[in-house]
Amino acid sequence: RVRRDIQQEVLAFDPGMDAALMRRRELETELFKAIVRDELQMAYQPLVTLDDGLMYGVEALLRWEHRELGPISPAEFVPIAEENGYIVELGAWALNRAMKECLSWPLPVRLSINLSAIQFSRGNLVATVQEALQRTGFPAERLDLEITESLFIEEGLDLRFLMEEIRSFGCSFSLDDFGTGYSSLSYLPNYPFSKIKLDRAFIRETLSDKKDVSLIEAVLHLVKGHDMELIVEGIETPEQAAKLKQLGCQLGQGYLFGKPMNAIELASMLSKAA
Ligand code: C2E
Ligand code: MG
Ligand code: MG
Ligand code: MG
Repeated sequence: RVRRDIQQEVLAFDPGMDAALMRRRELETELFKAIVRDELQMAYQPLVTLDDGLMYGVEALLRWEHRELGPISPAEFVPIAEENGYIVELGAWALNRAMKECLSWPLPVRLSINLSAIQFSRGNLVATVQEALQRTGFPAERLDLEITESLFIEEGLDLRFLMEEIRSFGCSFSLDDFGTGYSSLSYLPNYPFSKIKLDRAFIRETLSDKKDVSLIEAVLHLVKGHDMELIVEGIETPEQAAKLKQLGCQLGQGYLFGKPMNAIELASMLSKAA
């Protein structure tokens, strides 16, 4: 006799789903080998002061160049690594690599690194950060950790306690992708952030719209009221930069000032400035 239920399930399988699922499975397996195969790198994007356009720091961003599949975006592989927990190891690798590379540059700059919620909930993040600082000798005062609003709703996590422990080493925290997630306004005063990064969705338009402008003014007001600083993400045109400067924004990041580049390119950019 034949198991009809299984047969039907097989027939009902959507071939489109199949392709997406297979890609996911493939990336998952490949990601486990990526570190040892040396396929992972960190890229660094300048963070600048808007009044003079000068670089004061960089944001470190994961890059994966697979030997056969080519470049794979962190927007695709970070969620996979979060789902299977591999982000804990990957995140620790990223921290160590970025600190080491940053220390090899000719000028001292600030370093921002993205942390995933899974590193807080499943990894021993406090020890990971402390070990990376000790192992590399990177000055904690120059380290900034970026987290997103998704952490506020992580259950069973004493986020504030963990943040305070990590801050006690001397590093600071930024709230990334501000404005894209949950209603964060009420959460904000409860956590020790020194900076807020306004998501680039906010400045996608030319900023000529009165509504866009008043939104940015409101965020600036909020940030100043909490003794924080604002970084505007995704600045691509001189017009956007001029407008933001005029509104009183002090810090920015975007293709206008520099795209993410590898450690060697970043070092040569700094040595020209030195
Ligand atoms: P994010 O932390 O918000 O990083 C900023 C993203 O915006 C980067 O994309 C950057 O290349 C892009 N970007 C910067 N300036 C501009 C601009 O002017 N125009 C446009 N269109 N884009 C701009 P990327 O490198 O693809 O990273 C995507 C996301 O992946 C990051 O968003 C972050 O959430 C995640 N990610 C990257 N590296 C890491 C990592 O080491 N750990 C974790 N947990 N997540 C990471
Ligand atoms: Mg970020
Ligand atoms: Mg962001
Ligand atoms: Mg983002």
